Amino acid sequence: MKVLSVASEFYPLVKTGGLADVVGALPGALKGQDIEMRPFLPGYRAVMAAAEGGPALLKLADLFGGPAWIRSGKSGEISLLILDAPHLYDRPGNPYLGPDGLDWPDNAQRFAALAAAAAMVARGAVAGLRPDIIHAHDWQAGLVAAYLHYQDGARPGVVMTVHNIAYQGQFSAELLAMLGLPPESLSIDGIAHHGQIGYLKAGLQLADRVTTVSPGYAAELLSAEFGMGFEGLFRARAGIMSGILNGIDEEIWNPATDPQLAASFDAKHLRGRARNKAAVQERMGLKQDQSALLFGIVSRLVWQKGIDLMLASVPSLLACGAQLAVLGTGEPAIEAALRDAAARHSGRIGCVIGFDEGLSHLMQAGVDALLVPSRFEPCGLTQLYALRYGAIPVVARVGGLADTVIDANPMALAAGVATGVQFSNPDEAMLQAAIRRTAGLWQHKPAWRQMQRNAMASDVSWHEPARQYAALYRSLQLARALI
Ligand code: ADP
Repeated sequence: MKVLSVASEFYPLVKTGGLADVVGALPGALKGQDIEMRPFLPGYRAVMAAAEGGPALLKLADLFGGPAWIRSGKSGEISLLILDAPHLYDRPGNPYLGPDGLDWPDNAQRFAALAAAAAMVARGAVAGLRPDIIHAHDWQAGLVAAYLHYQDGARPGVVMTVHNIAYQGQFSAELLAMLGLPPESLSIDGIAHHGQIGYLKAGLQLADRVTTVSPGYAAELLSAEFGMGFEGLFRARAGIMSGILNGIDEEIWNPATDPQLAASFDAKHLRGRARNKAAVQERMGLKQDQSALLFGIVSRLVWQKGIDLMLASVPSLLACGAQLAVLGTGEPAIEAALRDAAARHSGRIGCVIGFDEGLSHLMQAGVDALLVPSRFEPCGLTQLYALRYGAIPVVARVGGLADTVIDANPMALAAGVATGVQFSNPDEAMLQAAIRRTAGLWQHKPAWRQMQRNAMASDVSWHEPARQYAALYRSLQLARALI
């Protein structure tokens, strides 16, 4: 079976968050299920430079204002399709933002182009590459479903995955003619969303199946609190909706072989963690102290991630004798507040502002506990890395965080199955209580070691998620064959 995976990010070529990891890992994970998945990506400058570009398979004379080519490419073992459209993508830096930190003004065209070209491939425009299923990720790929729905001809089934409902891709209704979609598409059962064109809305409304990245988030999306305006649509489409957890790449994220670590270790030989802890303390300007409980955060610095709750909880954390190391980048106000906290509590709080893949690995290997105080979290990857590296995840009880961490409540501790700490209603008081509870657990070294062993034994691989995606694709293909 052939699946075309349409997305705006792909690890290792272009990444701003977890979406890239998932799109990068799925093709390898699905091989074992006899599924050939090909990612279809915009030809950003970084992608054109790093992918082993192949020949043009199709030339499009004019794609939203300039010529474009669909090229084959390769990243490691993975075969790609790349939309080479220099007028849309040959730009420096971030895939979404210009140098001024604002969205590129033509993002509507940039991602409509990706979707329109993907729809052509879906209908067999590239010989030998006609997919059986289109898997569209997030709003940047949402219009694929619209192009396939409103244009004639046989089409494959479409799966739409929401990685984060906060990013919806809404644009002025005046762009409709430019998109090449018919006037009737701008309706409530089409692509219209509150008087605008909704790219994610289009995908959620018109795809054959909708998935999100954890069962917990799939349930939360039905509520006004988490649905962010889409709860009605999700309720209407609940029958075709499901949640499939993300896995992680266990070769890249393997503490026994990870080249980014100061010392390797595994579940049976945890001693190497101490050297990594010392290395994190050094990088973060923290006091060298193995006995201090070292909390870490690796995160985009945005409201969703609850970093402000953490900043408000600094006194509680310090009162427990703990240290805090933060790696992150994002909103300038949060970055400034972190720098300020590090300056005021030098040696006990440290931060590195920036995106540093290598340091993110070292952090997972060196911190004792990884804090994830998110207000909402569709799946979350950092707590999965933490489990694998024996850093105890301390997480808000939302979405995929709730689904992947077993709270150290008295029953779980007695049964010897706890893997971390959860707290509900992400707010300051609850976070502070969780920090104190974690500090209490830290005092009981045998219990802590047991949690580390449990955490490291958790199945965070792609094995089960890949099986579930394969089953979904197959059932959709069967359902469409019966139409
Ligand atoms: P989201 O996709 O919402 O950002 P996830 O937890 O799903 O959150 O994925 C975040 C990914 O980005 C993880 O792979 C994490 O390690 C990585 N990451 C986040 N911030 C940084 C950073 N400053 N430096 C390196 N990696 C980071």
